[in-house]
Amino acid sequence: MGYDVIIAGASFAGLAVASQLRGRVLVVEPYPIGEHQTSACATPLSVAEQLGLMDSVLGVQRRLVIHTRTSKIVVDLSGHPYCTFDYKKFCRGMAHGVSAEILHARVLGREGKRLVTTRGPFEGELFVDASGWRAVLAERKAAFLPCQRFLSFGIETVAPKAGDELGFWFDPEVLPRGFAWDFPIDLGNRIGLASYVENHRLKPPLDLFLNRWGLPRGETHGGYFPAMLPRPLSGDLFLVGDSAGQCLPLTGEGIRPAIYFGQACGAIIQRVLSGELTPEAGRQAYESFVGRHQRLYRALRFAQNLGVRLPATLTAFLLAVACAGPFLSYILPRYTAFAGVKNPHACDLGLFGINAPRDSTGP
Ligand SMILES: Cc1cc2nc3c(=O)[nH]c(=O)nc-3n(C[C@H](O)[C@H](O)[C@H](O)COP(=O)(O)OP(=O)(O)OC[C@H]3O[C@@H](n4cnc5c(N)ncnc54)[C@H](O)[C@@H]3O)c2cc1C
Repeated sequence: MGYDVIIAGASFAGLAVASQLRGRVLVVEPYPIGEHQTSACATPLSVAEQLGLMDSVLGVQRRLVIHTRTSKIVVDLSGHPYCTFDYKKFCRGMAHGVSAEILHARVLGREGKRLVTTRGPFEGELFVDASGWRAVLAERKAAFLPCQRFLSFGIETVAPKAGDELGFWFDPEVLPRGFAWDFPIDLGNRIGLASYVENHRLKPPLDLFLNRWGLPRGETHGGYFPAMLPRPLSGDLFLVGDSAGQCLPLTGEGIRPAIYFGQACGAIIQRVLSGELTPEAGRQAYESFVGRHQRLYRALRFAQNLGVRLPATLTAFLLAVACAGPFLSYILPRYTAFAGVKNPHACDLGLFGINAPRDSTGP
C-alpha cells in the first residue's frame, strides 16, 4: 500500500507540514526526532506560545544588542520578546500532535512515485522536500543557484558565558562580510558566526571571537542559510523551509518561516487529500501564497547586500539609523509580525488568506 503524502525531513518545516495532514502520511528522517540540531534556536516567543511549546523555552530575551566596529546599539524587544529553546523538546512537542508514520531512514532519491531510502523504496502520491538546505529531492544547487550566487554559511558552539540579551556583531574585525551572535540559554550561550559570502573557514575567527571572553570552543554544528524565496516547487514536488530558500536574508532567521510556510503547505495538501483541490491546483495555491511574501525578502536581501559591499563605518551608520526610534517603530513590528505561526490545531487556509482558486476542485 502506498502513502498519500511522503515528507523528507522531520525538523521545523517537515513537522509543520505533517501537523496539518490526516490520511496515510510518511515522514522520513535519519535521526531520532530533535537529535540533530543545526540551529541556535532563537525565535519570537509568540512561536512557542502558538505551538503550545512553552516548556521547551530556555530563556526569554527582551533586549537586543547590536555591536558594530564603532558603536553598540540597544533595541528594546519588550513588545516583541524573543526566546531560545531546547531543540529536542521543541521538535518532540511538534511531533506529538502528528498522526503520520515516522521512518528513521535517509532519503536517497525519487523515481516517479517511489521514494528511495536507505530502508527500501516507498510508494507515494504527493511528495514534500523538507530536508533543509540539502534539498535532497530537489538538488540544492539546482534549487538555489539561479537566484543566489552565494549561500550564507554559519557555525556555532555552546560556551559557558553569562548573559540575558540577544547579541549580534556586524563588525569586520569579528568577521568581514558576515555577522556573529551570542544567544543566552540556561547553561551558557550559543555563540556563532555566519558568512554572507559562503566562507567555510569559520573556526579560526570563531576561536578569536570566543577568546574575547577567554572561552573555549566546544563542539560545533552549522550549515547553510538559503535565503532567497525561489519558486517552492520542483516539478510536482513541494519544497518547504530551507529546502525552498525560505530562511530570511540578513538575520538568518529560518525557524519561523519554515513553520509558517510548512503549516500553509500542509493545509493546502490536506485540501488536495480531501478532494477539494486537484494536486495541480494545490501546487498553484502554494506557489502563489509563497510568492506573495517576496517583499520582505527583497528588502532584507537588499540590506544584506549593502552590508557586504559598504565600508564598515557606513554600515554602522545605517544600522544606527535603522534602529533609531521612528524607523524602528516602523521596521520592528513588521519584521516580527511576518510569518506569524498559527496554532496547529486551528489552522485553516483562511487564516493564511488563501482562497481555493476557481475551477480548482477535483472531479
Ligand atoms: C548555525 C545556524 C544557526 C541558526 N540559528 C537560527 C536561529 O537562532 N533562529 C532561526 O530562526 N534560524 C536559525 N537558523 C536557520 C534555521 O536553522 C533554519 O532556517 C531552519 O532549521 C530550517 O528548518 P527546516 O525544517 O527547513 O530544515 P532543518 O531544520 O535543517 O531540517 C532538515 C531536516 O531534514 C533532515 N534530512 C536531511 N537530509 C535528509 C535525507 N537525506 N533524508 C531525510 N531527511 C533528511 C535533517 O536530519 C533535518 O531533520 C540557523 C542556521 C544555522 C546554520
